[in-house]
Amino acid sequence: MIRKQNKSSVRVRFAPSPTGYLHIGSIRTALFNYLFAKHNDGKFLLRIEDTDTERSSKKMIENILESLKWLGLNYDEKIVYQSGNIEKHKQAADKLLEEGKAYRCFCTKEELQKDKLKTASENRYYKYSGRCRSLTDEQIKKKLEKGEIFSIRFKTPEGITKFKDKVYKSISVNNSEIDDFIIVRSDGSPTYNFAVVVDDSDMEITHVIRGEDHLSNTPKQILIYLALHRSVPKFAHVPLITDPEKKRLSKRTGAVSVKEYRKMGFTQEGLINGLVHLGWGTGQNKTIFTIKELIKNFELNHVSKKRAVFDYEKIKWINGKYISSMSAKKLFPLVVENWKKNSLITDEKIISNKKRLLAIIDLLKSRMRLIPDFSILGKYFFVSPEKYEEDAVQKHWTKEKVEFLLERLIIEYTNTKDFNLKTSEEIVRRIASENKVKAAVLIHALRLAITGFSISPNIFDVLILIGKQEVIQRIKSSLKYGEENGIFI
Ligand code: GLU
Repeated sequence: MIRKQNKSSVRVRFAPSPTGYLHIGSIRTALFNYLFAKHNDGKFLLRIEDTDTERSSKKMIENILESLKWLGLNYDEKIVYQSGNIEKHKQAADKLLEEGKAYRCFCTKEELQKDKLKTASENRYYKYSGRCRSLTDEQIKKKLEKGEIFSIRFKTPEGITKFKDKVYKSISVNNSEIDDFIIVRSDGSPTYNFAVVVDDSDMEITHVIRGEDHLSNTPKQILIYLALHRSVPKFAHVPLITDPEKKRLSKRTGAVSVKEYRKMGFTQEGLINGLVHLGWGTGQNKTIFTIKELIKNFELNHVSKKRAVFDYEKIKWINGKYISSMSAKKLFPLVVENWKKNSLITDEKIISNKKRLLAIIDLLKSRMRLIPDFSILGKYFFVSPEKYEEDAVQKHWTKEKVEFLLERLIIEYTNTKDFNLKTSEEIVRRIASENKVKAAVLIHALRLAITGFSISPNIFDVLILIGKQEVIQRIKSSLKYGEENGIFI
């Protein structure tokens, strides 16, 4: 029954339920599907599983579409809305009824509840008793005439259901462990296990790639495929994501929406690189891939069944690696938007200052992990420091001669006609050497005066981008601060 595929016939789907925001786990599933499809020149389809009308919402559908778009996980063909397929589900259920592969179950909620309580009191797992399996046509007719409501149950056959999962390898389940499960509820709505089979089959899905939590549903779904005489797709279940303590990911440990990650300042490809390593790896010592490289390298046999650990710090680090690999030009719109948001720059300044802004981005990018870092850690390019790092003040401004050295620097910088990368550094080194202190003493003191921080990119690059007058002004302010607070010795 397993369909033979040639490379280009690969069709996969991402099938989110719009009952919540698209979070990290589901987006990783979407990503794996996308990469697998593109690797095989196949199609990546989107199906919105919106049959739970009470819990599904338009807002969530919008969130799903927005998130996929932002990540560049573009789907092929038209979106399939599961709610539009209800008629097809019903027809398929009727076919199973006709062929005696499913039956109507008239058990009431109360009866089923009683059965459940009984099995619980006997310490057994609950399994539907099969009470309605053997109703005669006559009995069914009577019940229908009386208007009794019914659900439709699948008549699970005897035997063993086996399949080869691309990640979990050989799985075998004795059908005696599967009860006659409901495929259509008494209100006429199909259950997940049934709708998913009819839809996947209608959409000619060749590979079902989804979360490990669906592994236990797969035998039921295979039984339905077989009963409906439809081709069984291949399956790949990807491991669940846990937090570093191996617990289920919670909001606190990172299970928030893609939108939140975007707001936090992740870049599209940075987040993709962070997510793809959750369960997948080439074994190469390489962390940052372009989307093209990911497509080229993505194979399901590189997906591990070990639970993937989500570590926020690591994913931030990966995003930082990605930021530093991006060109300033590509980063420009993202960073400028953030600077604007933080009132560090206005629209007019962006146009007239583009060259300088690109140089600032280039200088900062290797140290940034999230886009807002460009505002937090690069604020001094736009405004003089409001405060100085306290530890650094104690460390760098309390050294002997610092006050005098900074005063000398003001004089020398003021007098120099040509303030550039070379001269600004030469002056610092000369003053230090004339006063018999290490150049680092003055460099650290100067960095703190200019940026407010103990760490920054090469300070002379920074000075040039800030400009001579402002540099002198900031050194004066630091002297004032040092004197007022009795820092200098
Ligand atoms: N709507 C289901 C989910 O979000 C789809 C599962 C599947 O891919 O079969 O979990």
